[in-house]
Amino acid sequence: MRELLNKAMALQEEMSAWRQAFHMRPELTGQEAGTHRMIRGFLAGMGVPFVTAGDTITVAHIDGKRPGKRAAIRADTDALPVTEETGATYTSLTTGVMHACGHDIHMAVGLGAAKLLFIMRETFQGKALIIFQPAEEGGHGAQRVVESGLVDGVDSFFALHVWPQLETGYYHLSAGPVCAATDRLMIDVSGRGGHGAYPEMSRQALLAAAETALALSALVPRKPEDRPMHVMSIGEMHAGSYWNVIPGAARLEASLRTLDARLREDLLGQIENIARETAHKHGCGASLEVDAVCGIVYNDEALVSRARPAIEEALGTYAVANQERAFIGDDFSDYRALGPCCYAHLGVMRPGQEEVFALHHPRFDPDESAMPIGAAGLCASVLGALGTE
Ligand SMILES: [Zn+2]
Repeated sequence: MRELLNKAMALQEEMSAWRQAFHMRPELTGQEAGTHRMIRGFLAGMGVPFVTAGDTITVAHIDGKRPGKRAAIRADTDALPVTEETGATYTSLTTGVMHACGHDIHMAVGLGAAKLLFIMRETFQGKALIIFQPAEEGGHGAQRVVESGLVDGVDSFFALHVWPQLETGYYHLSAGPVCAATDRLMIDVSGRGGHGAYPEMSRQALLAAAETALALSALVPRKPEDRPMHVMSIGEMHAGSYWNVIPGAARLEASLRTLDARLREDLLGQIENIARETAHKHGCGASLEVDAVCGIVYNDEALVSRARPAIEEALGTYAVANQERAFIGDDFSDYRALGPCCYAHLGVMRPGQEEVFALHHPRFDPDESAMPIGAAGLCASVLGALGTE
């Protein structure tokens, strides 16, 4: 199987050209029609068959030698409202929009995997699918793919995410929860507004919201090592419009990230109680609305134990290790409703790189030489799931 990596290495230049084409023309969540036109053009150029739903869902279909199971690779296609500062020659041509989460790499790796599996179609049984999924960044794109019916009957799902803290050459994979459930919390506090001269005649929603923010922050220990299973950050607080008017309403928004479903339920209950009780102390009311952005990405034990030896054979045992659990969310979790899932981290840090920029940073610039490793790892996973002859 080492030849799989060699075959993927031979696609380095082609994958770089695809990646840079995507990088220069990023599109925001749910608006990726131009990106999908490019994907469809590249697939057609390779002769790889694909099906579509609307402008922003594209699924490549590669039939093996004879009927059998179906295994899918997911690549997400959206960019972020970030102004690029990498200074790269392939810098985004759209000011204020950037592939700062590496989804351009995911697409190029997906296309590379499509090409490899298409070339190797006489060697496996069943069907390989490459899902190009829109709107991963909070836009419920995976749900739209599931609802499209284009991935019905798929027996296993694979994906990877570029990982800035991990050196190129490494492919990390473990069973169990690997990405946190992500919830957007919206707390509305209602009081009674009034004149700044007469606070006793008002019910101060702003003070209640401020006290709620402090009380909620106590739910999360400050040191990362003390919070192995959850984290919460308050990102927004809105109240008031003028210096001598007491506002009658206030709003807090926060993100809660949990790696355990029961802990999540428990924390949501505690958060609602804290908001209600704190508001009550100020004579105000409070309500909590929860937008479940994505669930826990849970790597299936049986799937991982089948995929891992195949990946180790393709990449070398040194390259594969257990992955760190991440508090970032990924709606890849939605495919679990259809079948077992397996989500890996791909190292994209240049060896000796001095400064590491996180995902979503304007200077995030992943190492393109990791792409063949990603394509070989995903192909090996799919071939391991389908069975080769
Ligand atoms: Zn991402």
